[in-house]
Amino acid sequence: MRAFQLMAQGTPGRFELRDVPEPHPGPEEVVVAIHACGLNRLDLWLESSGLPIPTTLPRTPGGEMAGVVCATGSAVTDWSSGDRVAVQSNLFCGDCEFCQRGEESLCLTGELLGVTRDGGLAEQVCVPARSLVRLPDQVDFQTSAALTLAGSTAMHMLTNRTAVQPGQWVLVMGASSGVGSAAIQIARRLGARVITTGSTREKRCLGESLGAELAVDSTSPDWPRQVRQATGRRGVDLVIEHVGGKTLNQCFDCLARGGTIVTCGATGGREVHLNLWPIFVKQQRLIGSYGRTRAEIQSTLEWAATGRLKPVVDRIFPLAEAVSAFERLRSRQALGKVLICMHG
Ligand SMILES: [Zn+2]
Repeated sequence: MRAFQLMAQGTPGRFELRDVPEPHPGPEEVVVAIHACGLNRLDLWLESSGLPIPTTLPRTPGGEMAGVVCATGSAVTDWSSGDRVAVQSNLFCGDCEFCQRGEESLCLTGELLGVTRDGGLAEQVCVPARSLVRLPDQVDFQTSAALTLAGSTAMHMLTNRTAVQPGQWVLVMGASSGVGSAAIQIARRLGARVITTGSTREKRCLGESLGAELAVDSTSPDWPRQVRQATGRRGVDLVIEHVGGKTLNQCFDCLARGGTIVTCGATGGREVHLNLWPIFVKQQRLIGSYGRTRAEIQSTLEWAATGRLKPVVDRIFPLAEAVSAFERLRSRQALGKVLICMHG
């Protein structure tokens, strides 16, 4: 089968489309014929060697995949060939203390599909059966590949790591990102008033079309002041954050007393200098968020099935042009998700 594999880390674009043996499932595994796979910042971190996780090469990236079950292991009873599925990319053991209480993203022996084992930029992928989620009939493969990872990350941030009350102000960083475009929609549906950020006019327009009542220019140094003004100088109750670096300090400048920042990433820098005085005086919270639970993937797909959550797709590339898809992601020009489609 064909697989798009990373051959060397540290220099962009060191990929090859290779012919590799078809995977065979172990007793508790299934093989999924991939139809579509979304790209994420995680794939760029793998490419640039920017992850604090050891990786062996060559490696097939891709963690946001949807397809059809084509082979099942001898101990698999819940799934059969032909089932339409999404795959949970944060693989989990199912046994540890955290998995037992449904917090699979805290698994003690978790693995990352597309990083620590081969992912979805291939014609097939072999995964543990427990990582499959059934696709609702109304959800096509491309919708799933645009939402399963990024959308469920936003769902985890807004419904698990925090709770949003109707009427609260939510600031969503990066309207055009996969997490941002989903978080705007989810926060609105939960009754929040949403402000978002974008570095271009197109990105800000996208944010407003998704339900934000204000989209500020993140390249303007005084954007936090604009957020405070929009909230009557009060500040926002919640920030959905994934940039880090100095942007995290700016998010604290936007935050109301008693407010919360949830962070699921740090594309702009992982080390941050924080002044603790305003944080404890204003009784604010900074909360980490990682991955999602299986239940949250199901709810993300249910939201998609009922039209409450719409995928925002920038471009779709065939597997043979995955190099161009990575260039598109690296350019930071994408408006929404960049997808790879195996049959088109
Ligand atoms: Zn576990």
